[in-house]
Amino acid sequence: DLTLTKVAKSFGDNTVLHELDLHVRDGELFTLLGPSGCGKSTTLWSIAGLHSPDGGMIAFGDRVVFDGGKVDLPPERRNCGVVFQSYAVWPHLTVHDNVAYPLKLRKVGRRERAARVHEVLELVELDHLAGRHPHELSGGQQQRVALARALAHPPDLLLLDEPFSNLDAKLRERARLWLRRLQQRIGVTTVFVTHDQDEALSMSDRIVVMDQGRVRQIGTPEEIYQQPADLFVADFVGTVN
Ligand code: ATP
Ligand code: MG
Repeated sequence: DLTLTKVAKSFGDNTVLHELDLHVRDGELFTLLGPSGCGKSTTLWSIAGLHSPDGGMIAFGDRVVFDGGKVDLPPERRNCGVVFQSYAVWPHLTVHDNVAYPLKLRKVGRRERAARVHEVLELVELDHLAGRHPHELSGGQQQRVALARALAHPPDLLLLDEPFSNLDAKLRERARLWLRRLQQRIGVTTVFVTHDQDEALSMSDRIVVMDQGRVRQIGTPEEIYQQPADLFVADFVGTVN
């Protein structure tokens, strides 16, 4: 599981996270939902170790990865698979080599690497395109390459920051269903960021609704939709209009 305890972050005098407490259970797809600027990406970056919070604690199971000034593991020691909105796949590498890259970095041997790349490319249904370059793929396919790369070295946590926002509406809907199935099949604990309430409601085990760096409500999609904690949540998920 993943635990955030009183995680705080400011940029100058802009307090973006106000002592945020979150608990993500093993194997669940947990969604950070909220309007633009509410601190979703900042939370994800803090978990991944891409920047340091000002205070608080972050633990993966019983492994503390951040604790105030005492512990602050660099991203490469946190073993998170990360996919961002703008899928940064290497344009000069084939699909195969993009996915193999993190394994090479970790000095995984050639034979095991090939087997692992094959396995994750099958998982994202791109095995037949392994020899292509990213510019020969659609946006959705490129996003799946990024996902395969994030899964290549099996991560403890999968962190997805609006991974579908570059896709058109129809592709997005398919991508949701597909990702949800894949996530359930491999059972990886996943933190998913979106500002799209439909996306959150349709994919998540649980959702946290955030507002200006604070938690408004945490619950299952049904709870959030049917029993919104306050007007903000009701308004945001569209229960009232
Ligand atoms: P969106 O849905 O638009 O992606 P978000 O919920 O992911 O929004 P964040 O990116 O976490 O929001 O940003 C939260 C606040 O922190 C915003 O006010 C933003 O301007 C500010 N912020 C984020 N990163 C930085 C930075 N590196 N320097 C200064 N301010 C930042
Ligand atoms: Mg963001």
